[in-house]
Amino acid sequence: MCTLQISQDVLPDCFVNEIVPSSNNTEMSIVRSNIQNMEEIEKWIKEFGAKTCTHWNVRSSNPNGVKIKKFVCHHSSFMKVKGADNKRGNTKNAACRAAILIQVKKNSPRTRYNDSYIKRDLCGIISIGNIHTHTLKTAETLRFLPTNSIIRNNFFEYFDDGMGIAESHKHHLHTLDLMDNYNENVARGDINPSLRTIRYWHDQWRSLHFGPRSGEGLLEVIMKIEIENVTENLETADSDFEEIIKTLWDNHNKYGSSVSGVGKLNDRIKKIRSKGQWETFLHTTGTNISLRRRDGTAIRVQPTSIARRKPHVTRGSKRLLAGRPAIGEAVSRKRKRNLGLNIQLNKLNAISHGKNH
Ligand SMILES: [Zn+2]
Repeated sequence: MCTLQISQDVLPDCFVNEIVPSSNNTEMSIVRSNIQNMEEIEKWIKEFGAKTCTHWNVRSSNPNGVKIKKFVCHHSSFMKVKGADNKRGNTKNAACRAAILIQVKKNSPRTRYNDSYIKRDLCGIISIGNIHTHTLKTAETLRFLPTNSIIRNNFFEYFDDGMGIAESHKHHLHTLDLMDNYNENVARGDINPSLRTIRYWHDQWRSLHFGPRSGEGLLEVIMKIEIENVTENLETADSDFEEIIKTLWDNHNKYGSSVSGVGKLNDRIKKIRSKGQWETFLHTTGTNISLRRRDGTAIRVQPTSIARRKPHVTRGSKRLLAGRPAIGEAVSRKRKRNLGLNIQLNKLNAISHGKNH
């Protein structure tokens, strides 16, 4: 048994509350408040729960006529299996009989005459049962507090940042460490959710962003994200591209274009055969797109090994180049090993790297 003491400190700040003095009844507290409607009843109970570390479930509600709503402590047996039938070992069902009844009275001349509180606009009558069958503010009770949406959103942000289940849990504990009331916060189920809850949130977050792990839904979500990305990028680039084409026309009309110049540009554009090459073209205004067609990559060889090769010997097993060297291709600058010729030209003679030097 545990008694929840009702004082002004535990009552919601956003309402005007007045505790009705009662001399003999310690099990029940009556509070008068300026609650006007059903939404305000919800708001009141939520804030009261947050302040007292309790949680209240709706038991019955009558929104029409006499506005009345009954709440029971979430450790009550309402909608729960019996403690003995609970196979998971820890039960929330403590058969707690604490309840809160909130009623909003009509503000009429007759009620004002009978009830002095209504004269002061305190139409709400809140009857709070103070006796709980379980402990209050202990670790074993606090861990049952239901999670709230703010903490859930925090975890969704952690997942967005690339954290997994265990990592986000650890990170969250670190953030709690920086706040006051560390011990109480760690014990509270609403502030420090269990790994099971985090796993459930992670599954929710995952299916929201990536769809189910298998099946048709998975592909649908990926396709949707892909299409969104592509259309988004195209939309931003389209107008810029039109601008460029317009500028090209303007320049052509203004300065005229030579056949060779246009031909070269045309050649370069036609050499582009992949997205990567097109991006390179855009970023380098075409200078990095080779006019010669180069395919494949070669295994790297030591530079000295290349230097020792005879002129016109290509790398690896490629065919020997025939015909005129292409424009821009480096002609071999290798020094000749010909003593007689070099004496005539007054140049240094090359040294062979073979065994004869
Ligand atoms: Zn209770």
